[in-house]
Amino acid sequence: MAEMIPIKERMKRNIVPMPEQKPQDRIHNFKEVPLGYTKEQAIHEAQRCLQCKVPKCIAGCPAENNIPKFIEKIVEENFAEAYLEILKTDNLPAITGRVCLQEEQCQVVCILEKKGKPIAIGRLERFVADWARENNIHGKLPEIKRKSQKVAVVGSGPAGLTCAADLAKLGYDITIFEALHKPGGVLVYGIPEFRLPKSIVKYEINEIEKIGVKVITNFVIGAILSVDKLAQDFDAIFLANGAGAPRFMNIPGENLNDVYSANEFLIRANLMKAYSFPEYDTPIKIGKRAATIGAGNVAMDSACTALRLGAEKSYIVYRRSRKEVPARAEEVHHAEEEGILFSFLTLPVKILGDEKGNVIGMECLNMELGEPDESGRRRPIPIAGSNFVIEVDMVVDAIGTSANPIVAGSATGVETNKWGYFIVDENTKATTKEGIYAGGDIVRGSATVISAVVDGKVAARAIDEFLNSGGSLRKK
Ligand code: FAD
Repeated sequence: MAEMIPIKERMKRNIVPMPEQKPQDRIHNFKEVPLGYTKEQAIHEAQRCLQCKVPKCIAGCPAENNIPKFIEKIVEENFAEAYLEILKTDNLPAITGRVCLQEEQCQVVCILEKKGKPIAIGRLERFVADWARENNIHGKLPEIKRKSQKVAVVGSGPAGLTCAADLAKLGYDITIFEALHKPGGVLVYGIPEFRLPKSIVKYEINEIEKIGVKVITNFVIGAILSVDKLAQDFDAIFLANGAGAPRFMNIPGENLNDVYSANEFLIRANLMKAYSFPEYDTPIKIGKRAATIGAGNVAMDSACTALRLGAEKSYIVYRRSRKEVPARAEEVHHAEEEGILFSFLTLPVKILGDEKGNVIGMECLNMELGEPDESGRRRPIPIAGSNFVIEVDMVVDAIGTSANPIVAGSATGVETNKWGYFIVDENTKATTKEGIYAGGDIVRGSATVISAVVDGKVAARAIDEFLNSGGSLRKK
């Protein structure tokens, strides 16, 4: 057991930095950028925790992980107990430890944040989950009395996986239907290998399958089987099909060759492993100069992927300023280190092509910021006559996604709002049809992994209550 250090000493210590691949090396490979804490580094960081009597970090974590407790276990060098503690509230700790926005959630309310040195909670969570995986430590399952009721989950992203796992732990018979050939949702098809290795996603999904969750891939609900038909065979349904339909700028030239939606580009690169050429010969065209439109996490992922696939210059083109960039600070920092070229206050108005239909440039306007709009951010206003051309030969649209109507279209009585997202009761995730629940991006619009996880948990609790009180879709 590591020593408990005096409070004064804890306050003095700095955050243990995360070891990372050097930018000049990592732009040539798809290996993970942050390398993870060693055991010694994790203990050193964990020792800084003040173990507050009234810890704010637990409430700051949307999944309500008992953060001080798992950190205490790290100090005690009892990493297995630390892992089991996290598993009580989070089925995907190696994933959330990597991609959660800790700096806006648990870490921002850490008392040490006032000194600019919050505990690196995400890094510690990641350490614990990685240690458990490497040391073959698995979640302990209580003796489950199997129940006869069956629940169908549509979609295997973080919302679907969490709901499925929580219900399986309660003994229900759970089947996930997934449209793609691999489960994981955005965790496998969107977030690139260098931020979230797919072997880790696969491992955490396997752990969920071990609890008894069945996953059926290549099964598009709404095409192969409607939600209405599912309702004849299952007692309850959780809809977690994400918001994967791409949005475009609707400017001239978007149908030229080598203009991708971020989803298509990242699916080819990640899920279809275009990065692993020649082992996989998935077609993907990478220009010498790539432009990504947008500045969220998806845009950073696209621009950094283009660079790794061989683009000599990779631009981020964003209509607002650096201050309004919505991506995580860490991702922006990594992109800057890697040499991504940021073109702020820039609005693309036309993509230019040659006689063969290939992209040769992007016409843009300079912008200035006006008064705040409904989002609270200052409204970007085009400066008339400021047109200029960025020479590029590939464009990725990363300006957001929306709901695909295929699932909703096959679910009679399940109402959606004007954007096609399911309308749910905030407290239960119940849709407008009894017995059918929904959560994650298909309710919130493009959101975060942890909000999808929380929706899955809330829905699981409500489904349990519904089934326990004798409810069933099959009775209707
Ligand atoms: P999804 O993860 O989208 O999963 C939905 C699943 O449903 C998919 O597997 C899909 O194939 C399946 N499906 C869809 N239609 C059907 C159908 N008809 N039948 C059967 N299955 C269907 N969030 C963070 O917190 N941190 C990050 O760093 C971050 N980075 C991101 C990077 C990228 C490139 C993207 C695209 C998103 C990122 N996000 C990030 C957002 C986060 O990944 C999503 O908010 C989250 O994955 C939503 O989870 P979900 O379970 O609702 O949906």
